[in-house]
Amino acid sequence: MNEQNILIVRCGEVALKGMNKPYFERMLSDRIRRNLRGFDGIDIKRSEGLIFIRADKSLDMESVIKETTKVFGVASVSRAIEAEPDLDKIGEAAVGYMMGLIESRGIKTFKVEAKRADKSFPVKSPEIGRIIGAKVLIGCKVLKVDVHQPDVLLHVDVRHDRAYIYENKISGFGGLPLGTNGKGLVLLSGGIDSPVAAWMMAKRGMLIEAVHFHSYPYTSPRAQQKVEELAGILASYCGRFRMHVINLLPIQEQIVTNCPEEETTILVRRFMMRIAEKIAEKRGCMMLITGENLGQVASQTAEALVVTDAAVTKPVMRPLIAMDKVDIMEKAKEIGTYEKSIEPYEDCCTVFLPKHPATKPRLERILASEERLECEALIDAAVASAEIIDIDIK
Ligand code: ATP
Ligand code: MG
Repeated sequence: MNEQNILIVRCGEVALKGMNKPYFERMLSDRIRRNLRGFDGIDIKRSEGLIFIRADKSLDMESVIKETTKVFGVASVSRAIEAEPDLDKIGEAAVGYMMGLIESRGIKTFKVEAKRADKSFPVKSPEIGRIIGAKVLIGCKVLKVDVHQPDVLLHVDVRHDRAYIYENKISGFGGLPLGTNGKGLVLLSGGIDSPVAAWMMAKRGMLIEAVHFHSYPYTSPRAQQKVEELAGILASYCGRFRMHVINLLPIQEQIVTNCPEEETTILVRRFMMRIAEKIAEKRGCMMLITGENLGQVASQTAEALVVTDAAVTKPVMRPLIAMDKVDIMEKAKEIGTYEKSIEPYEDCCTVFLPKHPATKPRLERILASEERLECEALIDAAVASAEIIDIDIK
């Protein structure tokens, strides 16, 4: 027994999906399999609403756990040992498990929490708890029971063909498995917000693709490299994805030459949206995703967002719209994009920044300004010029 390490994976919201449950569970175990494909000696099986990962003893379990908890749809993971579903066998395994914890952590107190998923098992949960607790007390003389603040809460989970023993649950991110909710195109800058926005949509099961705009030579190749590195971090959650990279400078120059200065930002943003929409159409993306956030900057006032939205017909998802910046920053730290995002490189939005941007743009005026530009031709040329980069997992 125990030639393998066992991980119990709980499926969270996937478990609520009624008739579609088998589909979601299958998608989830597929995603876990993909995330763990770098490890040899892994076996993944679904059983009774849980996913069981068996990993060879030689594998670094910290890494296996880390990769597993990155999979959207995973609510929590526990590292467990197993025993035959027989009270003596469970007791023996529990004693061995606790001996290990006495040795490694010097634990002194414990409490057993038993659960009987298999209702045909002849002993009820509280009684299982008492019996295993008594066996542990006999087997591990240094331990005492503490029902209020035990050093170890020992879970005993008796299932149909096996019983599992584990200590704690390591939280995953929850959400839904990738690929269960279509594909979206994220407008990805090098900033803090847009990677978080992409991550949040992917967490709800949406596959992503990205478009990034630069203003070379006003923005540097190093700035683009930073965005590729950010995208690589995202890919470790969202899977490999394609990024379309476009030089916006020809359009920016047209705007600066022909339109009122205070409208520059909003006009640029409308072009970004329309270019993104064309790419989304070509690539089967149902929605656009941005890191916009109500009131954060001049181009994100309610009025500006309405005028931006009017440029496209596809829905624009703004998952950060009502968050505070500090909370967005916290999220960026949690998912590991923050440190990369704060590296100081210029963004195309900061090139030709007007001194006094219009914070309450009016659509009629913006449309009138756009009349002075060859919008369709500029957009088509930008789309045709896209450089394609396939982002791999960092
Ligand atoms: P971020 O932190 O993501 O850069 P921000 O707070 O700097 O956002 P803006 O620069 O106004 O805000 O951009 C708003 C949104 O527009 C971004 O979240 C992103 O979705 C999109 N965007 C901005 N710049 C670019 C770019 N260079 N390429 C692609 N999308 C961009
Ligand atoms: Mg930005």
